[in-house]
Amino acid sequence: MSETSTISEADERALLDSIDRWLEKKVAPVAAKFEQADEYPTELVQDMCELGLMGALIDPKYGGLGLPALTYARIVARVSEEWMSLTGVFNSHVMMGLIVQKFGTEAQKEHWLPTFATGEMRGGLALTEPDAGTDLQGIRTTARRSGNDKYVLNGAKLWITNSIEGDVLAVLAKTDPEAQPRHRGMSMFIVPTRDKATGGDMPGVMRGRKLPKLGYRGVDTGEIAFDDCPVDAALSLVGGEEGKGFLMATGGLEVGRVNVAARGVGIARRALKEAVAYAQVRQTMGKPIAQHQAIQLMLGEMAAKTRAAELMVEDAARAYDRGGRVDMEAGMAKWFATETAFQVATDSMRIHGAYGYSKEFPIERLYRDAPLLMIGEGTNEMQRIIIARQLIARNPV
Ligand SMILES: Cc1cc2nc3c(=O)[nH]c(=O)nc-3n(C[C@H](O)[C@H](O)[C@H](O)COP(=O)(O)OP(=O)(O)OC[C@H]3O[C@@H](n4cnc5c(N)ncnc54)[C@H](O)[C@@H]3O)c2cc1C
Repeated sequence: MSETSTISEADERALLDSIDRWLEKKVAPVAAKFEQADEYPTELVQDMCELGLMGALIDPKYGGLGLPALTYARIVARVSEEWMSLTGVFNSHVMMGLIVQKFGTEAQKEHWLPTFATGEMRGGLALTEPDAGTDLQGIRTTARRSGNDKYVLNGAKLWITNSIEGDVLAVLAKTDPEAQPRHRGMSMFIVPTRDKATGGDMPGVMRGRKLPKLGYRGVDTGEIAFDDCPVDAALSLVGGEEGKGFLMATGGLEVGRVNVAARGVGIARRALKEAVAYAQVRQTMGKPIAQHQAIQLMLGEMAAKTRAAELMVEDAARAYDRGGRVDMEAGMAKWFATETAFQVATDSMRIHGAYGYSKEFPIERLYRDAPLLMIGEGTNEMQRIIIARQLIARNPV
């Protein structure tokens, strides 16, 4: 996305309408089937490529849609209302593209971005390892320079979305494991993982298991290892400079947090919608449960929190679109919207009684999908710490 991305109201309306039509016709009828079978929705992924979602934030000069973060957040919220897993397929990929777009050399942008924009090469972000999640500086994967034109990667990544079905990953590795502070020794690499000709692994790459998960099913979250995996230095080392990887992974990508917050809005909105409808048809003691005050108290709080989450996400997305760092706004939106998603999904389940617990209703899926949002893109514990640090930095005495 360029700092000046804009879209007219009419164009945004047309884009959101086309996504709504696709969600209604193609996604709604099959989401539960794919989710319950934990099956990758290949055709829907193809549709998302055709809708341009893989290149949503990529500059049009490289073939993307170049959308503002605000429009992107609105798309993510809508898709999450229908099936949140689909947003994982395009958002992890979009984050990888943004790393190249924001930090890559011109040659890297020209090489990678057009294929990322169409989804011809799809992937995600490989940061987490078996022993390092929040403490990213504790990763052990290394990238060693080999001759003038290569790096060789060794290490294992875990919990990587799009690592099994995808073709390429942005991999965080240590180019100087002894560096102090540790982040100075970290670099980002774009690593092709699938040999497109054979469909097999690239040399030195071992794609592992698709991990079984509580929610966020269908989309592949997996393990992947690198064993003397050679990569081209000029094309792979993002920005052509070592030591900048930690910044690329954690800073300047607040839009990732805005996206997770927008997923929370989608979950909360759907859970609320289902609760409002159900409360009007389910009768107890001779009247719809919506007329019992206990249910009204829940609905009132659910509605207010869902609306507040929507506004916070829009506020953070607008701040991102204006440029500059927005850690605090993105952190607040991420924390509030995702905690809200979990609460509203839980309350919706209570309102549905036993039916909320049934796999034949969408509530139990929303309830299982919501907790991921409190963990991914920086846990909600870390978000509050980030907010507090920013608050203090912006208000020195
Ligand atoms: C479904 C799914 C998909 C994922 N997809 C990806 C992906 O595509 N790419 C990727 O790289 N990763 C991915 N992850 C990993 C995710 O980013 C990590 O799980 C997350 O960063 C947390 O790391 P951890 O699980 O190692 O928890 P830990 O870091 O071990 O944290 C455990 C607990 O301690 C708390 N904690 C840790 N440190 C502190 C501290 N300093 N102060 C206060 N509290 C602290 C945490 O908040 C948490 O409550 C995914 C995870 C899941 C579940």
